[in-house]
Amino acid sequence: MKHMSLTRRLTAALAISSLSAPLLVHAKLNVVATTPDLASIAKEIGGDNIELTMLAKPTEDPHFVDAKPSFIVKLNRADVLIEGGAELEIGWMPALLDQARNTKLAAGAPGHVACAQGIQLQEVPSTLDRSKGDIHAAGNPHYLMDPLNAKIVAQRIADAFCAQDEKSCSVYRANLKKFTDALDAKMVEWERKLAPFKGQQVVAYHNSWLYFGDRFGLKIDLFLEPKPGLPPTPTHLAEVIMKMKADNVRVILVDPYLNRRTAEAVAAKTGATVVDVSQFPGGVKGTDGGYIALMDYLVNSVAQALAGKK
Ligand SMILES: [Zn+2]
Repeated sequence: MKHMSLTRRLTAALAISSLSAPLLVHAKLNVVATTPDLASIAKEIGGDNIELTMLAKPTEDPHFVDAKPSFIVKLNRADVLIEGGAELEIGWMPALLDQARNTKLAAGAPGHVACAQGIQLQEVPSTLDRSKGDIHAAGNPHYLMDPLNAKIVAQRIADAFCAQDEKSCSVYRANLKKFTDALDAKMVEWERKLAPFKGQQVVAYHNSWLYFGDRFGLKIDLFLEPKPGLPPTPTHLAEVIMKMKADNVRVILVDPYLNRRTAEAVAAKTGATVVDVSQFPGGVKGTDGGYIALMDYLVNSVAQALAGKK
């Protein structure tokens, strides 16, 4: 087994999966979501009517997920694939999809939900250029940090579930309404909590907080990475520190898979507070409850840090 190639292991895994397939009764819609935020929204809509698999872990960088052979088996059996799109998963999904050989999930098929379609993406470059190592070459893909975009995504997921599983459509629609109503109520609370900090600048390690900042009136446009996906350099960090001191910027946001020590070093030189954030439910403590619990955590921790409380 040790020196079997990946392809042979996959072929073996798929052979086993197709052998056992006739024995299984697929009553539930089989759904795969690439990242935990999408999985959380899919769970809200699908409830017990779907069998849900999420591929990336909450503590993994969504741009660089460790692709396992088991993912191919999951994708081979799926009725619906939910992905972020806008090239978020371009580094790891295309090869998996190729090998999964599932026509239901082909690009453009109703079972393949690329959630970025229908979202007003920001920072879409006028010319595509990956030569400089920018991993946001198709625009900024971290749009789910704006709760209003989460509503658009929830709607798309409900539509996709209804198309594949008509008999449960009324359940999906009712769940969608419940989720959307809960988000609307929370939005009022979140906007109120961040209102006192309108216009303030916040530093982030990676440019994944643009949509969050825009929604809640914060300027999150200074980054420890010189470009999305490129590790911080001493020259770049020196510039960031200078700007932070000049503008009295006091908060640095760090996702769990990034180098917290770099953020701590910058904080030590500027008197700023490092705030642990995550785009994914379960990525930081107290956010296992799903998308709304995550946004609650984000709003509260950012508001506390901006107010100067630990
Ligand atoms: Zn990114």
